[in-house]
Amino acid sequence: MRFSKSNDVLGTTNRGNPAESSLCTLCRADCQGKCETWLSSLVGRKLLYPRDFGIVTAGANNTTHVGVSYNSLRIQGYAYGAHGLPNGLSNDPDDCIFPNVDLTTEFGQEVKTKARIPLMTGALGSTFVAAKYWDSFAIGGSLVGIPVVIGENVVGVDRESQISHGKITVSPELDRRIDTYLRYHDGYGAIIVQMNVEDTRNGVAEYVSEKYGDKVIIELKWGQGAKDIGGEIQVTSLDYALFLKKRGYVVDPNPEIPEVQEAFKHGAIRSFARHSRLGGTNLSSVDVVREEFMKSVDYLRSLGFKRISLKTGSYGMEELAMAIKFATDAKLDLLTIDGSGGGTGMSPWNMMQSWGVPSINLHAKAYEYAAILAAKGERVVDLSFAGGFALEDSIFKAIALGAPYTKLVCMGRAIMIPGFVGANIEGALNPDRREKVSGNWDKLPKTVASIGTTPEEIFASYFDVEKKVGKDEMKNIPYGAIAFWTLADKLACGLQQLMAGARKFALNQITRQDIFSANRETEKETGITFMTDYNDESAKKILNS
Ligand code: SF4
Repeated sequence: MRFSKSNDVLGTTNRGNPAESSLCTLCRADCQGKCETWLSSLVGRKLLYPRDFGIVTAGANNTTHVGVSYNSLRIQGYAYGAHGLPNGLSNDPDDCIFPNVDLTTEFGQEVKTKARIPLMTGALGSTFVAAKYWDSFAIGGSLVGIPVVIGENVVGVDRESQISHGKITVSPELDRRIDTYLRYHDGYGAIIVQMNVEDTRNGVAEYVSEKYGDKVIIELKWGQGAKDIGGEIQVTSLDYALFLKKRGYVVDPNPEIPEVQEAFKHGAIRSFARHSRLGGTNLSSVDVVREEFMKSVDYLRSLGFKRISLKTGSYGMEELAMAIKFATDAKLDLLTIDGSGGGTGMSPWNMMQSWGVPSINLHAKAYEYAAILAAKGERVVDLSFAGGFALEDSIFKAIALGAPYTKLVCMGRAIMIPGFVGANIEGALNPDRREKVSGNWDKLPKTVASIGTTPEEIFASYFDVEKKVGKDEMKNIPYGAIAFWTLADKLACGLQQLMAGARKFALNQITRQDIFSANRETEKETGITFMTDYNDESAKKILNS
């Protein structure tokens, strides 16, 4: 493992066991710290560097050159040259500094969607952490200028939503999610609304197109990395379980059965799991899937959607090829490919551990398949890679692995941490707001108090946010959104540094040659050259010249 529980260099410690992403396998909304992502949400870009400058030296201990994972890819650096300098800048060293690296990206076919950094959130749907901390995620993402995705089932689980004759007429929670993002939207980023089987049945697309038109990107969902069945949530009220059952969900155990109700009354059953349905069960072949998919896209276009995306999970190669080919043929705007085993909600644990194709293998094949289409002259759909990303080096590696097709990297769990920690701080400092922001603390823990005791002291990017929205508006900005900005600033700055080292001053200049494999197996699986083979010929020419 690249990540051990504590990192002496950064002064960070995971609360639980670190996964491939660096985050704990179980991340808690009430966590008092302090992994790298948690602390970056407060101190921002300061965390790019070892602590205690002036009295320390530091050395890398990443010896994970065994196995195949994103951690077995390394990033190039060059001793000369500079590529893709923004207009107005020359290759003079005074211009070629890392803050001048341009991180803006765009995706889409006819209508281009821009983003300030090549990042988007994972789909945050009916899982309760998404609803509770939504303001932080949506306002944070909107201020930073990146796409934010509303996941599946938001309408179906909302007790206030009204569905008549199978179609939504009122949906306060979906409205809140969209409106919160749009309030600060300034042309960068986008709000994406995802649909699964139940959402399609409930008429989410019709509702959204009528109310929001093409302000929203609509997303068809095939799957995700965390599990190969539909989304799940856990509810602890019999009443709510019955409501979900009546809404047409699969609820387990069935709350309508008298014995189950009795067991719930006695405490033998304490919760119910709400499941979504599998998609495409009635489709028998690739051709039929294609036909149905094209019909769905045509239908969404007929509703007025100008931008449509697809999210697929860590299925095998046939589904991956279908996703890339169908999305390309249908001229979709974005395809998110989510590898195992990232997850944000309630996925069965051993399913998360063992199903599907891990991110690096899936993404390597996605590149290969995209290249096959490109070689035939097709304009390949823009790609976003997801599944276990939390740090700036992961963003670089994912964009390089899928270059030139990858325009974005999708982060799920990592980008939620600032929402949690910001809300906890807001609740601790403002008890009257604690419930509203879902804060879990009644006072600041030492890990935060050692940084500061006011938001101005705690969040390194507080004044950047204030500059953007104005002093008066700050009262409407949740601390979680300020933390979101602070983490995004650290990721952006770290990415700029890695790109400057690779002499790439624009994202579209990053190529697959900007990373190398740290072991032979990774080379074999990804097609990325082994580290000492890359430029070896050119090195020998130099020696023999
Ligand atoms: S924020 Fe989450 S990932 Fe980070 S230390 Fe806490 S529990 Fe672990």
